Amino acid sequence: MVCVESVHKSFGSVAAVRGVSFELQPGQIAGLLGPNGAGKTTTIRMIAGYLMPDSGRVTIGGHDTAESPAAARARLGYLPEGNPLYPEMRVTEYLDFRGRLFGIPRDLRKKAIAWCLDRCWLRDMAGRRIATLSKGYKQRVGLAAALLHNPKVLVLDEPTNGLDPSQLHETRSLIRELAADRTMLVSTHILPEVERVCHRAIIIAGGQVLADGTPAELTRRSAATYVVQARDPRVGDHDRVAKALMNLPHVERAVDRRPEGPSPSLGWTEWVVTARPGAPDLREQISMTATQLGLTIRELRADLPTLERVFMEVLDRAAGAAPERDPSPRPTEAAA
Ligand code: ATP
Repeated sequence: MVCVESVHKSFGSVAAVRGVSFELQPGQIAGLLGPNGAGKTTTIRMIAGYLMPDSGRVTIGGHDTAESPAAARARLGYLPEGNPLYPEMRVTEYLDFRGRLFGIPRDLRKKAIAWCLDRCWLRDMAGRRIATLSKGYKQRVGLAAALLHNPKVLVLDEPTNGLDPSQLHETRSLIRELAADRTMLVSTHILPEVERVCHRAIIIAGGQVLADGTPAELTRRSAATYVVQARDPRVGDHDRVAKALMNLPHVERAVDRRPEGPSPSLGWTEWVVTARPGAPDLREQISMTATQLGLTIRELRADLPTLERVFMEVLDRAAGAAPERDPSPRPTEAAA
């Protein structure tokens, strides 16, 4: 439905987008993630036909944005970053204005406006001046305007930026509802947002795609960490416990350390077990092993991979600075 093929875009000496490619299938909601300056808005503006790539091409429903811009735009709704609106206009007046810009005939425009007011839960606000609306409602007006011509593709640039938690919740539900019969590309900084709303995450930085997959596929690339806190074993047994944990299937490393935090640490040790990427949940095996070794367990916690962690790891790797994520080990560390 949306095909981005090796697009490049520079502004003077700044190479904003350097060979980005991806394809979005009908019915898919994809999140475009990246740090500030990653090239998200530039990519989105090229998809929306507001910027032309220096090289490469974008097609919407098979229509090239450079060769058939009208046909491509007819299939695409675009909510730009910052959601520019005319605050002095009333909601219906603004939607009518946008419908006229789109060349929607008068009778169809009326129907389209009524449909968008319903879809975006705006009926009660139809006569209100946009300036008097809350940020969440303004966002709905922006979405309604993007939907007026009933496009099959919706491209939303940071649609939840600056919303409070309840507005966030509502906008998220609206996005999900609108996605039921559309292809959507949503750019965002909010990673849990992508886990909740998107089928797919495309991580971009420095104008290039660094990772692309479902949130589940991406989190499988990262490793879970488990922390077992137990009463100190006999002197010299720290190593024995670490080695037993190391020998469990799917374990990358196991180290011990003094517990941190508010609870008293004297007499207690923590073993930190790092699983291999993609490993199943190891809590049961860890707890069984610790019990067989006669440990008195006070706590077993799992730090399972999140998209946020994958995002940071992907960016770290791209920057050529793989982070030291292991806890500071004591000299008794069991090496892999
Ligand atoms: P943010 O999350 O901060 O909005 P982004 O991922 O959307 O960032 P872009 O806005 O696409 O990133 O910008 C990518 C790079 O291109 C940045 O270095 C930016 O300064 C530069 N850039 C974007 N638009 C222009 C422009 N019109 N003129 C010059 N440089 C630009």
